[in-house]
Amino acid sequence: MLGIVYKSTGSWYTVKANDGEFYECKIKGKFRIQGIKSTNPIAVGDKVNFEVEHIGDETMGIISEISDRKNYIVRKSVNLSKQTHIIASNLDQVFLMVTLNNPTTSTSFIDRFLVTSEAYQIPAVILFNKIDTYAEDELGEVKYMAAVYREVGYTCLGISAKTGKNVEEVKEMMKGKTSMFSGHSGVGKSTLINAIDKDLDLKTAAISLQHLQGQHTTTFAEMFDMDFGARIIDTPGIKGFGIVDMEKSEIGNYFPEFFKLKNQCKFNNCLHLDEPKCAVKEALDNDEVSWSRYRSYVQMVTGEEENYRTDIHSK
Ligand code: GDP
Ligand code: ZN
Repeated sequence: MLGIVYKSTGSWYTVKANDGEFYECKIKGKFRIQGIKSTNPIAVGDKVNFEVEHIGDETMGIISEISDRKNYIVRKSVNLSKQTHIIASNLDQVFLMVTLNNPTTSTSFIDRFLVTSEAYQIPAVILFNKIDTYAEDELGEVKYMAAVYREVGYTCLGISAKTGKNVEEVKEMMKGKTSMFSGHSGVGKSTLINAIDKDLDLKTAAISLQHLQGQHTTTFAEMFDMDFGARIIDTPGIKGFGIVDMEKSEIGNYFPEFFKLKNQCKFNNCLHLDEPKCAVKEALDNDEVSWSRYRSYVQMVTGEEENYRTDIHSK
């Protein structure tokens, strides 16, 4: 039977079969998938093939096959550099929720996030939340930022999770897809998800409480069906959208507007810094590339950290 993994606890996988039923499944034998060295062979979002077995009154599934992943997000162990944990796979999109203030989301943070989503090959949508709280000049700033990111090719939407402004549009974008929500703590992720589907009870709050109590918790991603035909991946206790190892020379490939110009630079290994006849810097001088995007890029390329990380909460 074919199905999708909704939950994993290490050795058991909850799979929703195409017939709509949930099956508790185990893995048959060993898996080696796409050459990734990961601590878990199967992750939430994986499309699997399994056989149903009856043992007495119990029904269980034996997973025998996994489809190629169209993308996946990972968490890397800090100590064991080669150990990768796959958090989730086959995402259709990630919504990055941002606010100008309370809390402030910086453009460099947004750009780092977008580089990660490009590297993961997951389309990103930017939601500017709390637009009900902004004064005229702040709304102008949101419009300007949205124009910058639209120009690069990202879908942007101003919303208010509180008043419901444009929340229907978010639902529309989610229909028939698997989504994840990210953004700083306090930007309004819970409020929005609650406004979209009030019966959905994501676990993030409970987990963070356990952290406060100093308990050791192992957390797993989980997928949920929303009542209007959409799937959402919740990643309780997982701080961040993952870390992607990246060479300096790769970063420019994940700024789509720079990548487009790359072939026009004089040097094919141009880092778009001080090289002569750089098409990106020429575009910058002609205001065809945004200064804030370029600033973020320079920060990332010249930054101290070898591997940068996007330190954000996901939901
Ligand atoms: P999360 O940490 O991203 O899940 O953020 P929450 O959903 O918990 O929201 C943080 C705070 O912002 C709460 O007090 C919400 O009521 C408030 N909030 C969320 N969305 C909006 C909004 O669109 N407008 C206003 N005015 N407040 C909001
Ligand atoms: Zn260049």
